[in-house]
Amino acid sequence: MADEMNNPGIDRLLTEISLVSRRIPDYRPGEPVTVLAFGTDSLPGSLADKIRHAGYRLKEVESISHLLTHEGNNTCALIVNLDVLSDKQRTRMLQLARQSVHLPVIAISSANGLDERITAIRMGATAFIATPVNDDQVLDELASLTERYEKDPYQVLVIDDQPSVGSYLKSTLEEAGFLVTAISDAQQDLMPYLQNNIPDLILLDLYMPSVNGQELAGVIRQQETLISVPIVFLSNEISPQVQMHAMCTGADVFLSKPVNPLDLLYAVESRIRRGRVVRNLVTRDPLTSLANRRESLRRLEEEVLRCQRYGNRLCVALLDLDFFKRINDGFGHAAGDRVIRHFALILKRTLREGDLAGRLGGEEYLVILPETSLPLAVTALQKVADYLRDNQPYEEFSYTFSAGVTRCLPGMSVDQVLEVADQALYQAKHEGRDRIVTAGASE
Ligand code: GH3
Ligand code: MG
Ligand code: MG
Repeated sequence: MADEMNNPGIDRLLTEISLVSRRIPDYRPGEPVTVLAFGTDSLPGSLADKIRHAGYRLKEVESISHLLTHEGNNTCALIVNLDVLSDKQRTRMLQLARQSVHLPVIAISSANGLDERITAIRMGATAFIATPVNDDQVLDELASLTERYEKDPYQVLVIDDQPSVGSYLKSTLEEAGFLVTAISDAQQDLMPYLQNNIPDLILLDLYMPSVNGQELAGVIRQQETLISVPIVFLSNEISPQVQMHAMCTGADVFLSKPVNPLDLLYAVESRIRRGRVVRNLVTRDPLTSLANRRESLRRLEEEVLRCQRYGNRLCVALLDLDFFKRINDGFGHAAGDRVIRHFALILKRTLREGDLAGRLGGEEYLVILPETSLPLAVTALQKVADYLRDNQPYEEFSYTFSAGVTRCLPGMSVDQVLEVADQALYQAKHEGRDRIVTAGASE
């Protein structure tokens, strides 16, 4: 026992475990969220403003011991500027990270080397941000810490032929804030589920009477959208050969039954977080964080299919900023980029949840409005125009946009929908810009 305590391997393992368990303690969705900052003046003024503007309560903590009193107070993160910590404060942070503070830490530092990054990891950092601080990176990190509780819960699919095991896993994960679907009859229920959902992670029983987990893993990996979804195998099987074999079919890790709840949470949580980072890199436009061209068109394809299959109502709009070239030429490319970001923010603020805004390229955006009639789609776009008029950027110029909007009718392909919307956009430009033109109004 004494040997184990002095074993550096065990020591490291314990650090890692405390790390993957970083989560917001007792988070209450819908209530105001607090962000803590340590070290007076440790945050650039612009960042502090942006954090408050984004709706968080920002609190400076005076001493490290104060951290303890804030935990559980709907606090989502602690931002620490490592540059201002004294040696004593560093030691104290490291101690607390081991024992009692479980808050995710966002570390800011001017030292970018490995040593400083390791220190940050030991303090519980989920993000390391080198100075000069990119404010948006900090905001993205804050959003990613709370998104799983707010609008985008972590989705887990459990496949186990024993309903009792399935419901045990489901309730354990649900208690920790995951959204879980349990399937006991894979042959009947798996494909319909996968047609309508992309889970963040799949928990898969290795042995089931009608089909085995390895075969199912093969089926799952055949779908392009599921290639990167982590698969965690569950089994009583401990033979290293069987485990190895299962890993080869694309499993990420093995948990042996009966599964201890903490092991389960560690295995699931850290993999999903990493998976989401990768997914965002692939699907988001780096300048605006909106869906990128590829993802926008993929989502459009999904919605158009739904419209064809079930006759769902669907409207699609193409938006393009007016005289954008003049902004670039007159005020510089950086001003142009700020405008592209500004308009993305306007779209995010004004559109409904369930609508999708993406950036197709340049200053052209796609807006998908599912379950929306054409008049309501026009109203939604008019709301964007009104909001933009009242909330112009802090620049020496103002800007407007033009939009072409259309209904997707059953039988139309993605290309046809885009073609019709594009013609309407062209007409809006031709008629003098700063307007919304509808096409295909006859139903
Ligand atoms: P219109 O009202 O007809 O849309 O006129 P416009 O000037 O907006 O149209 P045009 O398509 O001719 O110009 C778009 C310009 O956008 C051309 C291109 O150099 C610029 N652009 C494309 N991508 C980016 C980008 O990522 N950042 C910036 N700053 N400019 C971009
Ligand atoms: Mg334009
Ligand atoms: Mg253009």
